[in-house]
Amino acid sequence: MRSQRGGAGTVGAERAGPVADALTLEGVSREYRRGVAALHPVDLAVPRGRFLAVMGPSGSGKSTLLQCAAGLDRPTAGTVRVGGTALASLKESALTRLRRERIGFVFQAHNLVPSLSVAENVALPLLLGGAPPDGRAARALAAVGLGARGEDRPAELSGGQRQRVAIARALVTEPDIVFADEPTGALDPATAQGVLALLRRAVDRDGHTVVMVTHDPVAAAWADEALFLVRGRVVGRLDRPGADDVRRVMERLGRDTGENAAESTAGGEGGEGWRA
Ligand code: ADP
Repeated sequence: MRSQRGGAGTVGAERAGPVADALTLEGVSREYRRGVAALHPVDLAVPRGRFLAVMGPSGSGKSTLLQCAAGLDRPTAGTVRVGGTALASLKESALTRLRRERIGFVFQAHNLVPSLSVAENVALPLLLGGAPPDGRAARALAAVGLGARGEDRPAELSGGQRQRVAIARALVTEPDIVFADEPTGALDPATAQGVLALLRRAVDRDGHTVVMVTHDPVAAAWADEALFLVRGRVVGRLDRPGADDVRRVMERLGRDTGENAAESTAGGEGGEGWRA
């Protein structure tokens, strides 16, 4: 990940060429109440094929960052681009379409439609977009190891299997980026590892891009990079994060949530790969 300032961002609603980063944020801030910033201006570029974990204490702005980046909330200031398209340039209907076709979502609660079959759930983003039935949903389901369960209802699956279905649904449109919000928060550790391994494989094998909000250092260790937020500011990053390093940083940030959290963590506290 690198700063996008001065980079080759594309202005306007046109989709940029294949070199556009999966996601860029330029000066993105969010105030829910006038003068109270839940997110201070954030600059962020997530290249394609990257797995990024967003971490921070409760209330640090992780959800706000994700909601703004995914076009679910409009930032107070700044520019969000998904695959080169500036979200602010889109009317509501176009933004809805972009979310459906170019962004995948995986939530803590899998949000499957209980009355639809597993296969129909996976196909939903395609059907809503008017695409004719084709083999994509079946392939996506097979890719998460559930090719034989397409006719079942979500209630007939385990929690981990349902989350796999949610991942298949998130990937079925071949989106520019997948946002995962605490995707393993409701799973036991062994099942969680399987879900994280799937996300990792989607990145490594298929070139997908994943931004995952998590509070779990073990989950963050599956990412290429962990980004740490405190009080709405990015205070540092860890490349190739190890669970122990992440845990140390989180403990330190939890103790020291003041304005100088970055400085206090910079003295080797984050271990190798820490960048404030
Ligand atoms: P996290 O996901 O890290 O727990 P959030 O992004 O949910 O943090 O919240 C960041 C800050 O913004 C917190 O102080 C929270 O109270 C505030 N906040 C979040 N959502 C709203 C909202 N809809 N209205 C007002 N304040 C909000």
